[in-house]
Amino acid sequence: MSHAGLPRYEETPLYRIRHSASHVMAQAVMEMFPGQARIAIGPPIEDGFYYDFQLPRSLTPEDLEVIERRMREIIAGDEPFERQALSAEQARKLFADQPFKQELIAGLERGGQDEHGNQTDEKPEISIYQNGPFVDLCRGPHVERTGQINPDAIKLMSIAGAYWRGDEKNPMLQRIYGTAWNTADELEQYLWRMEEAKKRDHRKLGRELEIFTFDDEVGPGLPLWLPKGGVLIEELERLGKQMEAKAGYQRVRTPHLTKEDLFIRSGHLPYYAESMYPPMELEGERYYVKPMNCPMHHKIYAAKPRSYRDLPLRLAEYGTCYRFEKSGELFGLMRVRSLQMNDAHIYVPEDQFESEFMAVIGLYHEYFKIFGIDRYVMRLSTHGTQGLGKKYVDNERLWLKTEDMVRRAMVNGNVPFVEVADEAAFYGPKVDVQIWSATGREFTLATNQVDFAQPASFNLTFVNREGQEEMPLVIHRAPLSTHERLIGFLIEHYAGAFPVWLAPVQAMLIPIADRHIAYARQVAETLRGLELRVEIDERGERMNAKIRDAQLQKIPYMLVVGDKEIEQGAVALRLRSGENPGPMALEAFVRRAQDDLAARA
Ligand SMILES: [Zn+2]
Ligand SMILES: [Zn+2]
Repeated sequence: MSHAGLPRYEETPLYRIRHSASHVMAQAVMEMFPGQARIAIGPPIEDGFYYDFQLPRSLTPEDLEVIERRMREIIAGDEPFERQALSAEQARKLFADQPFKQELIAGLERGGQDEHGNQTDEKPEISIYQNGPFVDLCRGPHVERTGQINPDAIKLMSIAGAYWRGDEKNPMLQRIYGTAWNTADELEQYLWRMEEAKKRDHRKLGRELEIFTFDDEVGPGLPLWLPKGGVLIEELERLGKQMEAKAGYQRVRTPHLTKEDLFIRSGHLPYYAESMYPPMELEGERYYVKPMNCPMHHKIYAAKPRSYRDLPLRLAEYGTCYRFEKSGELFGLMRVRSLQMNDAHIYVPEDQFESEFMAVIGLYHEYFKIFGIDRYVMRLSTHGTQGLGKKYVDNERLWLKTEDMVRRAMVNGNVPFVEVADEAAFYGPKVDVQIWSATGREFTLATNQVDFAQPASFNLTFVNREGQEEMPLVIHRAPLSTHERLIGFLIEHYAGAFPVWLAPVQAMLIPIADRHIAYARQVAETLRGLELRVEIDERGERMNAKIRDAQLQKIPYMLVVGDKEIEQGAVALRLRSGENPGPMALEAFVRRAQDDLAARA
């Protein structure tokens, strides 16, 4: 089932509601500063809207309450929104005391710009929308009357500084962000998601749970993985390797550096040069740190003659790549400069493509199940005829053919997907996988790409059943993404409370008093022998404080030991959820832990 054509946001009722709410907000602000407020622009945005103002003083959070209250009165007034087209001359007169609007009118008159100062191909008609006394330069769309905005589903969120037209040479304006929904319930859910997102921010939790850090002297975008992050990486790699071994992948290893020629052949140079670190020159050769593993895997394919019996050949590597991202675009673990990728390249004859592609999709589904991801969508990006020979390899026949193969595979496999034209990779159609975390936050996790261009540039061939040379297709895939992105996602998805198999510390032993430490150490040794990750809290704190700290560290099992436990060779189990299964024989706890581990539950 393909979910073709989700409605564009601009065409939804929520967009009109939010756009209208931004007018109502501007109206309230202008009343607050009669004759003194200069208004700039106020578009709807994802989840809400904003408006930029130049005001005689700085706004405070108390102002937001006053503005919000006034907005509700305007909504109760049920004022109609009325549109009127007018000439540039009339518009200039109407907004005589609004210098920002004057600039926008000039832009509209010249063409190439809309009323928000954005680029546009058309030369828009100049129009205004009026509700009550408030008039804005605007082409809509709006709701019909202010009363169609639900007064219980709006909220002003924050005040921020914003330069006029985003240019720091321009005056700094005050921006008010607001949100608007259909129902009070939707608003409440949104606020909950925002609150959760703040609590779950992987940069904050990553620091608190000692998973990773950045250091100025190492450099921005180059994460240092602390021991607990090291455990997460080891466990994810173990999972990836197990699944790939089962699916017939073979593991390879390739260097971090290669000569320039390889990336010229692969087509990364010069097109991809901006995302690569600059070359180093040694003995008259130029070397690059690799931004991708593909070219080296192709060389491994080409290292010996291949026959149809070798295919599909699946070469896997947790390869570390380096990509140059501008400092301003770095973001926690989500945008980094060094990345460890769950990479593999599958070399496959055309007639086995569909089953192989579906096997990759099947792998995704197994991972989704393990991580409890129940909301996802795959986006198939295809070529655009206009871009052939420029953005895209100039071979329309192969484009259409491979796109059709992917489409058929997804339809036959009942994979929900949307199709987007003109967003493919240079060398073939791609499938982006978007997933949603437990709190409904969206992430682009990984990409599958079909490649018919690189096999040609690398002269990759195999001898088919008929004894003739044929070119394989290549599937690039990385279902577990990079460690950086995936762990960033998982921290937020689990709110740091990793399932037992991933938890950096699985059990914390809590001796009640000093005389119980020796027994706790003995238990710890037994558990470590069974490859459980265990620590002992030997501090002189009270038991409840130790339990609270272990809970804050989101450790799945807490094992309390005191006189009774020593006597019975037992441990008293508590879970981070607050559940309290109580005393049990050590063997019983071990069985429980091993079951949880085996199920990756
Ligand atoms: Zn407007
Ligand atoms: Zn690749």
